[in-house]
Amino acid sequence: MHAPRKQGKKKSVTGRRYSERSTLELIAAYRRALSRFGIEETEFDLENEFFWLFRLDRFIALAYRTFDSINREHFQSSLSRPTIIFCNRSSGGYYHKSRHTIGISLAMTVEYGEAEFMETLLHEIAHILVQSHSPAFYNILGRIGGSGRKAPTTLLLRRKRERFLTERYPIRVRCPECKKEYRYRTRRALSYACRPCCERFSGGRFDVRFRFVPAEG
Ligand SMILES: [Zn+2]
Ligand SMILES: [Zn+2]
Repeated sequence: MHAPRKQGKKKSVTGRRYSERSTLELIAAYRRALSRFGIEETEFDLENEFFWLFRLDRFIALAYRTFDSINREHFQSSLSRPTIIFCNRSSGGYYHKSRHTIGISLAMTVEYGEAEFMETLLHEIAHILVQSHSPAFYNILGRIGGSGRKAPTTLLLRRKRERFLTERYPIRVRCPECKKEYRYRTRRALSYACRPCCERFSGGRFDVRFRFVPAEG
């Protein structure tokens, strides 16, 4: 699964929108979010705040240099420089037009590094010129060197999706024949039967032999 680079008005990890917070605060918020989701973070060494501050500052400096050179090469330096900051989205980033600010997911940058950081940066620079994801947008994105691929799934994004599924579709059932699992909102699902098996073996009619049973675990 992939996350869009710009996620509309969805709430961010910590429930605040478009907040411009210091990198240190964002790192702390990211660590709290990971621990709320029960993720034991050891891989990225986030406790080492000074290492991350230094590293993340270099990404921002690189972002400004990249913006300047794209602006020179492709737009005759006609664009004004946006503010470029990290944000607390789970992945991807945003361009906020009235603030002329680009935000790039700190979590994504920590987990995926420079390649995805740059990909999101180019995506958001293209949004300065075109707000929608129209062909014109992808044309500009391609010209300035963006691949157009979706933002990667971060740890937080994966856990949020899992939690969403469990909360929204808590009933897991299984077909006794093909063993395929399904998720439903209510226990009424236990009176349903597996459609593919009914179609394959019973001419598409409900067949009690393929009625769902509770999935284990
Ligand atoms: Zn976008
Ligand atoms: Zn089945």
